[in-house]
Amino acid sequence: MLRRTFTGVMISAALAMPVTVATAAPAAAAPEVLATTLTYDDSQAGEFKAAVAEGVNVWNTSVSNVRIVKATAGQRVNIRVIADNGWPRATLGPVRPTGTVTVWMGRQAVNQGYNVVRIASHELGHSLGLPDVKPGPCSSLMSGSTGGVSCNNVRPNAAEAARVERNYAGTAKAPHVDTGIVLEDAAY
Ligand SMILES: [Zn+2]
Repeated sequence: MLRRTFTGVMISAALAMPVTVATAAPAAAAPEVLATTLTYDDSQAGEFKAAVAEGVNVWNTSVSNVRIVKATAGQRVNIRVIADNGWPRATLGPVRPTGTVTVWMGRQAVNQGYNVVRIASHELGHSLGLPDVKPGPCSSLMSGSTGGVSCNNVRPNAAEAARVERNYAGTAKAPHVDTGIVLEDAAY
């Protein structure tokens, strides 16, 4: 009823009928939750699809300003996951809904025995804008391989989660800025 006001004015002037149109004022700025939704595609993730899904779940249960969902057919992919034989690596984000970054689930680290879910959540951490923090303890997700080959911690620590929250605080409509940076997680 976009003509409500105009019509109402006309009707009032003519005194033709009661004006029953509600005086719908624009809704006050409701405290809307503007979480950013990102999509990922695992069609090239080979044998790592389950680990990638677990890594996605780690982030979805660790932060609230951004969530990652599997892309449906025809949808823009924000995080493309590719299995290859190199070292795990990823484009440094934070990726926005208008952009695309890549995570490579490199088999070199997998073959050395590193926890595959930790690799996935670590690389997704890069997608969300976290740099490496090396060397670092196993309790740090972004310490990567320096947490030790036996490190099975797949979750960000409080500081890492907080940094992602800041990266996506109130930025649901922000344009993507390509950092052009690929962080390689080689372990020697
Ligand atoms: Zn890394």
